[in-house]
Amino acid sequence: MVKSKLVLGIIGGGQLGSMLATAAKKLKIKTIVLTDDLKAPAKNFCDEIIFSKYDRQKSIEDFARKVDVVTFEFENIPFKVLEYISRLKPVLPKPSINQIVQNRFTEKNFINNIGIKTTNYVLINNQFDISNNKDLLPGLLKTCTLGYDGKGQFVLENKDEASKLKIEFDKEQILEKKVNLKKEISVVITRFLNNDFVIYEPIENKHVDQILYRSIIPADINKDIFEKAQQQAKLIAEKLDYIGTMCVEYFIDEKNNLLVNEIAPRVHNSGHLTINTHNISQFENHIRAVCNLEKIELKKICNAEMINVIGNEIKNYRDKTYSKNEFFFDYMKLKIKEKRKMGHLTTTKL
Ligand code: ADP
Ligand code: MG
Repeated sequence: MVKSKLVLGIIGGGQLGSMLATAAKKLKIKTIVLTDDLKAPAKNFCDEIIFSKYDRQKSIEDFARKVDVVTFEFENIPFKVLEYISRLKPVLPKPSINQIVQNRFTEKNFINNIGIKTTNYVLINNQFDISNNKDLLPGLLKTCTLGYDGKGQFVLENKDEASKLKIEFDKEQILEKKVNLKKEISVVITRFLNNDFVIYEPIENKHVDQILYRSIIPADINKDIFEKAQQQAKLIAEKLDYIGTMCVEYFIDEKNNLLVNEIAPRVHNSGHLTINTHNISQFENHIRAVCNLEKIELKKICNAEMINVIGNEIKNYRDKTYSKNEFFFDYMKLKIKEKRKMGHLTTTKL
């Protein structure tokens, strides 16, 4: 392989940043991680790490000077910061995408505007707005920004319940109708320059307490939903002029309607199994796309099931011995916290 001299900057030092750095290493690309977390696990996987608050101009400039291209592991980096960096070095996917996707209201508006269905939703500013939208109950009240793994969400069965909860109306919220879920799936896609792309088959996901617990391929869905989900993910990537790997999360309701839940403008937890199921993982494809390397045709090697290892469970997994078809990934987080993703186990199947 030709030795690349490219240096990739990654904003964020969690498990996604770590797995991106690992994929870059395989391609001989040097990685520099920018993170505000002194305990960031990515320090075990990248070539260099810069610890700084994301709005500290001097560190950002240092970071940008040292790298050729910048990407990120999470979508909640302030838009201003990404935009500032993009004046110094290319940022991919482009910051304007984050601006749309990091707010649940603008995200859902965008999806509906391109003709793709989501749950019904409305912007909520006060208790009154909830009482006035009873047709959306039972529903989920979600903060428009900064929510992940179900954080910042309330399930509202009726309007009386809403008045008992401590809802912070100073933060923007949306109320969305609760879907009677038949199942959840996701589609991971990588778009390259010139509208070239690779797309993985839909992944079936099981959430427990609003956190992803298990992902499986093949998803148990009909051909129609399989194709529709891939077509929609492709359209979203095209309309966003997206470069890199992204994921679309879908709901399938009891009547087999396909609804987009949300877009993750980054590599995604449900795509971790692609490390073991395909010739090129979602992480390597992301690196290939943002660094403008060759697109390689995607080949599936096997089926698999991935489970997330959450909180204290990690202790049992660290001392286990694994069989040939089991692949355990320890995120090497120093602190074990309840409901925190600490690692994952992928079991491949024929
Ligand atoms: P996050 O950004 O935290 O991932 P999501 O909106 O994806 O937030 O919600 C997390 C999970 O909660 C979903 O994957 C789903 O299992 C459940 N959930 C969220 N919204 C709804 C809804 N409107 N109807 C039914 N289940 C929902
Ligand atoms: Mg989600």
